[in-house]
Amino acid sequence: MTTVIVVAERDEKGEIVQSTRQAVTAASNLPDAQISVVITGDAPGSATSLPVGRVVTIAPIESTDNGIYDQATADLAALVSADSPDVVMFSKSDFGSVVGARLAFRIGAAFAPDCVEISGDASDAGTIGVTRPVYGGSALAEFEIASSPAIVTLRAGAFEPNTDTGAPVVESFDTDGLERKPVEVSESVAESREGVRLEDADFVVSGGRGLGGPEPFSVLADLAEVLGGAVGASRAACDAGWIDHSHQVGLTGKSVSPDVYIAVGISGASQHMAGCSSSRAIVAINKDGDSNIFKEARFGVVGDWEKVLPSFLATVRELKA
Ligand SMILES: Cc1cc2nc3c(=O)[nH]c(=O)nc-3n(C[C@H](O)[C@H](O)[C@H](O)COP(=O)(O)OP(=O)(O)OC[C@H]3O[C@@H](n4cnc5c(N)ncnc54)[C@H](O)[C@@H]3O)c2cc1C
Repeated sequence: MTTVIVVAERDEKGEIVQSTRQAVTAASNLPDAQISVVITGDAPGSATSLPVGRVVTIAPIESTDNGIYDQATADLAALVSADSPDVVMFSKSDFGSVVGARLAFRIGAAFAPDCVEISGDASDAGTIGVTRPVYGGSALAEFEIASSPAIVTLRAGAFEPNTDTGAPVVESFDTDGLERKPVEVSESVAESREGVRLEDADFVVSGGRGLGGPEPFSVLADLAEVLGGAVGASRAACDAGWIDHSHQVGLTGKSVSPDVYIAVGISGASQHMAGCSSSRAIVAINKDGDSNIFKEARFGVVGDWEKVLPSFLATVRELKA
């Protein structure tokens, strides 16, 4: 038997949303699943006809605490401790993503976000298996979660909504007197920036792993300053600690559309190009003539940046003068 808690969400009319019905399908696919649906609010509404064994109401959410959902996290942590389920399922909504991650952290459980498949029998081998997209969606990876409970969020549309009806037992979980410790913001650090915002710049000079270290970014900054632009970077350069992540351009960084995007020592991986391909012109400086960036660039120089960039900067200075 696998015990599952599905955390339900409602729409503005109070109806159970489709993604919750999809989660019920995902839960029903697990062998010998015993499903409880948890819903916030005193009146369970249409949850009472879901094809599950039990519906549990918990206190209505009074405040989302600026989106941090302290109350729901605390109440669900108490319910999960009392119930000891094998799996807790959320939809991959704002609510599910935030509360699922916070719940996992609070109770020390494994968190698997954005799952498209779930399988396994907690009572048999004791593991739950999930499949989720990785590498920007270009591959699917399978994971086994050995610890209990497994907390998962499910990608919308990965499962058909369950439209069956049932007659679950309805219970309420008393959260009166529960300590709902709010998140304390210990420090806020404003992003430091000189000059034009990366997203607003007409010229962006970006550096990648090919720069070989943090120092060359000062040359890029000189060029950006002369052009009245901003400095960008590839994720590889940011991950190496050569420049702050606020400069990262790409799928998991910022999207920019300058008049001119100058890519120095950047190979042109699809995830990088996702953030700059709408630039009006891309200029590439790269020592490898076969590098993908040259397929995307309107102008290119095949060469070592250490030789190319100083003369490029000097010429721009001359033209500006
Ligand atoms: C889910 C996911 C999200 C991602 N998101 C992003 C993202 O938002 N932004 C991003 O940038 N990446 C992202 N990546 C990473 C991306 O796949 C690449 O790994 C990364 O962009 C590579 O950075 P790079 O071009 O600086 O390094 P490399 O690919 O290592 O390229 C370095 C380049 O420098 C050239 N070079 C070396 N020496 C010199 C020299 N002396 N002079 C001139 N050229 C030289 C080389 O020929 C090479 O082409 C993501 C990856 C994943 C899986």
